[in-house]
Amino acid sequence: MLICIFAENVIALAESKMEGMKSMYLGCHLSASAGYAAMVETATSIGADTFAFFTRNPRGSRARQENPQDAARAVALLKERGFGPLVAHGAYTMNLCTADPEARAFAADVLLDDLRRMEALPGNFYNFHPGSHTGQGVEQGIEYICAALRRALEPGYPVTVLLETMAGKGSEIGGRFEELKQLLDAVGSSQVGVCLDTCHVYDGGYDIVNDLDGVLGEFDRVIGLNRLKALHLNDSKNPFNSHKDRHECIGQGSLGLGTFEAIVNHPALTGLPMILETPNELPGYAREIKTLRSLAGFRNRLP
Ligand code: FE
Ligand code: FE
Ligand code: ZN
Repeated sequence: MLICIFAENVIALAESKMEGMKSMYLGCHLSASAGYAAMVETATSIGADTFAFFTRNPRGSRARQENPQDAARAVALLKERGFGPLVAHGAYTMNLCTADPEARAFAADVLLDDLRRMEALPGNFYNFHPGSHTGQGVEQGIEYICAALRRALEPGYPVTVLLETMAGKGSEIGGRFEELKQLLDAVGSSQVGVCLDTCHVYDGGYDIVNDLDGVLGEFDRVIGLNRLKALHLNDSKNPFNSHKDRHECIGQGSLGLGTFEAIVNHPALTGLPMILETPNELPGYAREIKTLRSLAGFRNRLP
């Protein structure tokens, strides 16, 4: 099955090359404080061709004032420069399945508002942490997340929502592929996919260091690789299966550079946006992007 998907991706890659798409899009998390177009310029200056940003204050709930001219300028620049899909990130505080009914309703409103704002950047991704069930159990948590998503996702919305794979810290939902699959099935919309975070899955007990093929095969069996739309590239400060979620710079943690070399060259991951969320300022991100691009050049650079 995996082999088959790989072969399909190789063909898809050959086709996308003809359409002028790239085999890899690399970027990092950027500050949105100066607006969308400014982020495109910053990304370009560090060698990125995608990026992530928080749709609002990551720990609070305030959203920026909307600026349609800025968004339109960004959309034009992204197209002109051949950027891949952007991967916006919902606020960490948005817990769609908390036990507190008021906080839960507020989170659902935040999701709705975020998705509506993403209409200014059509065709891009909106990624978020599914949530923590705070003791109510996975089933109840999934039910709440599903309800919020169904309310917020109108058919035809020009945005794909991505559930992030989590480290399984505390009562987090999304630490197992099965939970994400259950959520995808419950929502039942093709507008929902998955963003795989390398630090989170390794912390969560998926051994991408020694068996990347095996983990991607399991992802394919449980969820389907066609639902994998983006990656977060992070090394981890903690050992395998630690359920901690502390990001480290690329090559300096328990994943190591070899794991990232395998990832950027893996045929099943061809053409996906890959976002760095490592503890870095811009120069550090620029260095990591350069390193990853050079690793991708050595082997398996497909046709
Ligand atoms: Fe995240
Ligand atoms: Fe992440
Ligand atoms: Zn994390």
